[in-house]
Amino acid sequence: AQKEKVYQITLIPGDGIGPEVTSAARKVLAAAGVVIDWEMVDAGAGAINKHGTTLPDETIESIRKNKVALKGPLTTPIGEGFKSVNVQLRKTLDLYANIRPVRSALGITFQHKPIDLVIFRENTEDLYAGLEYEIAPGVTQSLKIITEKASTRIARAAFEWARQNKRKMVHAVHKANIMKKSDGLFLDCVRKVAKEYPEIAYKEIIVDNCAMQMVMRPDQFDVVVLGNLYGDIISDLAAGLVGGLGVVPGANIGDEVAIFESVHGSAPDIAGKGVANPIATILSANMMLRHIGEGKAADRIQAALVLFLAERKHLTPDLGGRATTDELVDGLIEKIKMLR
Ligand code: NAD
Repeated sequence: AQKEKVYQITLIPGDGIGPEVTSAARKVLAAAGVVIDWEMVDAGAGAINKHGTTLPDETIESIRKNKVALKGPLTTPIGEGFKSVNVQLRKTLDLYANIRPVRSALGITFQHKPIDLVIFRENTEDLYAGLEYEIAPGVTQSLKIITEKASTRIARAAFEWARQNKRKMVHAVHKANIMKKSDGLFLDCVRKVAKEYPEIAYKEIIVDNCAMQMVMRPDQFDVVVLGNLYGDIISDLAAGLVGGLGVVPGANIGDEVAIFESVHGSAPDIAGKGVANPIATILSANMMLRHIGEGKAADRIQAALVLFLAERKHLTPDLGGRATTDELVDGLIEKIKMLR
């Protein structure tokens, strides 16, 4: 028999519901026949006792070596001296693109129109640069940093993905009518990149109008590219259209390394109760499978999930059901086996 390919991938179980949802994803990948040698490393609040830091060096080294990681949500301890671990990870590894596919194909949506869009959010600058000052009592200033380099590479990531996945349209989202210099530069950069992809239609839309259009006519969007702040807000809006945080996956991608993780946080209110919805993490793992060239296994998991959700059995409480995480996973694995 042919020897099975074994992938070495870093796993950060994370805090709160992280260990529950990442272990669910591991079971699902194994059921789909993908053999992964997981390298388990720590990060987040749970890493402090053992390592004295929320982001140990060996965690960064493992991700750099394996180039691919699956990650549970991390809790950033509240208090002095702790920076957001997620922001640190993105900066250290230069993960400049946050990619979120938003699809109604799972059938959990309030919308009557089909939604199948992919958001490319710039991940390194804008108002998230953290440059805030109190310039006088009662007067504060926050700097919005927009560079040609970061705007061009997020635009290229979006168009390149659109080309590879045979998508037809890219929308650039902005407020250049007000922020003529910063958002103006962002738009200039996206326009230049758009010219290199003549087969893909290109449109620009002002962010407030984008918010309304996305609620009223989400089917007009295909690939959407935005700066950091607009991307944060519009992608949560989009997640709300298809079933909420429990079902939307994500990836943080750079030129060297990619980390796959759900959009939601560590959900301390339900941690340890065995009722977390693992679907967002399973779909993030699915994006990871496509990234490493295991598209067939990803297709099978996706198809199984659609079958599983159509029955409306074994749903976790956030989806209106009463099932535990394990019951959901067992139900899904049954469908995966059926599709063999
Ligand atoms: P959260 O996403 O953890 O929770 C918001 C609400 O959604 C909660 O009621 C929670 O129970 C529910 N929820 C979230 N995921 C769910 C799931 N898979 N199944 C069922 N219900 C789910 O947001 P929060 O409460 O604002 O943040 C909690 C912690 O998570 C904070 O420390 C925050 O910094 C961290 N966080 C981490 C990440 C990340 O690691 N990428 C992202 C966001 C927040």
